[in-house]
Amino acid sequence: VSNSFPEKIDTLWLDCHLVTLADAGQYGSIENGAMIVNQGQITWLGPADQLPSDIEQRSTQVHHLDGAWVTPGLIDCHTHLVYAGNRVSEYEMRLNGASYEEVARAGGGIVSTVKGVRAAEEHELYEQSRPRLQEMLAHGVTTVEIKSGYGLDVQNELKMLKVIRRLGEELPVSVHATFLGAHAVPVEFKGRADEYIDLIVQEMLPAVAAENLAETVDAFCETIGFSLDQTEKVFKAAKKHGLAVKLHAEQLSDLKGAVLAAQYDALSVDHLEYLDPSDAKILADKNCVAVLLPGAFYFLRETQLPPVKQLREAGVSIAISTDCNPGSSPSLSLPLMMNMACTLFGLTPLEALRGVTINAAQALGLKEKLGSLEIGKLADFVVWDIDSPAELSYRIGGNPCLKVVKNGEIVHQAKRF
Ligand SMILES: [Zn+2]
Repeated sequence: VSNSFPEKIDTLWLDCHLVTLADAGQYGSIENGAMIVNQGQITWLGPADQLPSDIEQRSTQVHHLDGAWVTPGLIDCHTHLVYAGNRVSEYEMRLNGASYEEVARAGGGIVSTVKGVRAAEEHELYEQSRPRLQEMLAHGVTTVEIKSGYGLDVQNELKMLKVIRRLGEELPVSVHATFLGAHAVPVEFKGRADEYIDLIVQEMLPAVAAENLAETVDAFCETIGFSLDQTEKVFKAAKKHGLAVKLHAEQLSDLKGAVLAAQYDALSVDHLEYLDPSDAKILADKNCVAVLLPGAFYFLRETQLPPVKQLREAGVSIAISTDCNPGSSPSLSLPLMMNMACTLFGLTPLEALRGVTINAAQALGLKEKLGSLEIGKLADFVVWDIDSPAELSYRIGGNPCLKVVKNGEIVHQAKRF
């Protein structure tokens, strides 16, 4: 904490309790705190009684927060937020007793979302996705990762990535784009997955890189997705184009995708219900984040739990995300995912909060400028109507978000009851 204060201050935030998350293993709370923001960056924070007496006169704007709690802006580091249509009818069919085969025959499953995305014009896809991102923002999200993966051909994957870019340009949320061409084998390549991988490596990825449409490359490594060999081909191509990788791994079986991803310096490996507990150490050694997705676990009524104890003991950074997608996790609420991560996976409320802030920032390679309240970091934060930080994880649903601040500006203000 610095004792020098700038002569002129853009914005002064007063009457609040800060959850800084500046150090591992603790909230780093500052009760009766204050924060100074200049040019979108945090330039001072600490106990309000350390402020000089003339500080309000020196400030262009002063916000009094009536004793509310302030956390870093939430970061949703794994979403499939851009899609067309939804899968409500297949959800209802299944609950009426239809089998997966019957759902598939009725045109359900990922195939139906691919059809919807291919049929949608770029602007339609944008118009359908935009309200979802606005709802995420209203739940405290200031940075989001969004994947392609429902186009599954050159033209439609590029269309999705352009929509993803435009969302970040037009809404006050930072958007990190991931190319997920290897999400599923499209119907026209049925039984020819290797040929589809060739298309990804030879045409899709070069086009994505040439237009600078993605920061990272992802794949679905699974018995019902792509094999370890096919995944490695995608990773090699990503590296050739200078793109970082991440992976959907060990969701339904242990194919050792997480170990492969760690060898390619993946930023994160995601899902991990079937991760061999002894592989946790490999992730720790490579600083690879374990992203847990309790929404999909819940919605699919899975029973195999991710090895949280071993991840924790090995010192792996754990992040939590919505996995927002129409098929297995139609959720836009990170606070709800925090509750599920605690209740279903046994995370502590502190781990859940770190999982949607500083560790999620690490999962996107953004830890240096986001994820905690510290001098020099971007002034992305959320003002909450809660009495203690653990209350964010305690609630099942609801939305205690009062204000969202992005680069020092209020970009969302909740209506209160
Ligand atoms: Zn996913």
